[in-house]
Amino acid sequence: MRFLQVYAVVDKEFRLLWVGGEWDEFALQNAAQQAVANHVLSTSLMSHIAGEQTRAATARLIEAVLTTKRPLRMQYRCDSPSMARLFQLTIQPMKDDRALMVHDLKDAWHFSPPLNMWHYDPAAADCKCSFCGAVRLEGESDWTSCDDIGERHPTRVFYEVCPSCQRAVSEAVERVLQGDAFSPALDHDEIPEPGRAKDQSE
Ligand SMILES: [Zn+2]
Repeated sequence: MRFLQVYAVVDKEFRLLWVGGEWDEFALQNAAQQAVANHVLSTSLMSHIAGEQTRAATARLIEAVLTTKRPLRMQYRCDSPSMARLFQLTIQPMKDDRALMVHDLKDAWHFSPPLNMWHYDPAAADCKCSFCGAVRLEGESDWTSCDDIGERHPTRVFYEVCPSCQRAVSEAVERVLQGDAFSPALDHDEIPEPGRAKDQSE
């Protein structure tokens, strides 16, 4: 498994001040050419997130960190049609009301056979969870993991957050509010000061 770590610094308006690690490789690997670093600096993180529920959940996570100045951690899936990829997201407070988001690839495995390629379509009737990748097909009430969905993966999806991931987000926020501590993913000393976005706007 190839090591992969991606990180981003956002301010309290969710503006991307800095991105680093293997951000570009990750964006290109996922065919998101418009998301490479030079194009995203100074834009809102939220403008790169599809689905109202996903934006709201992401905002809750970041705001919990900014409010409490304590780090938060949760796992999520960011799969491609051929590979399941389990990531750990750590959000750490930084000075000046900024937050550092670190995405660490923890595990990856192949889908066999590969899933159908999908894309976001706000008009799609089939839903996909932004956090775990599970799918709720039109007319069904249950969410099916991509590990079990096989050839039934829809090609057009509307992004939502499934009930179990809504609970995971709430639990992660609750842990931060209660002050559960853990070691941060990176020491602040290892993170360069975000300056590129500011330089560009001047
Ligand atoms: Zn989910």
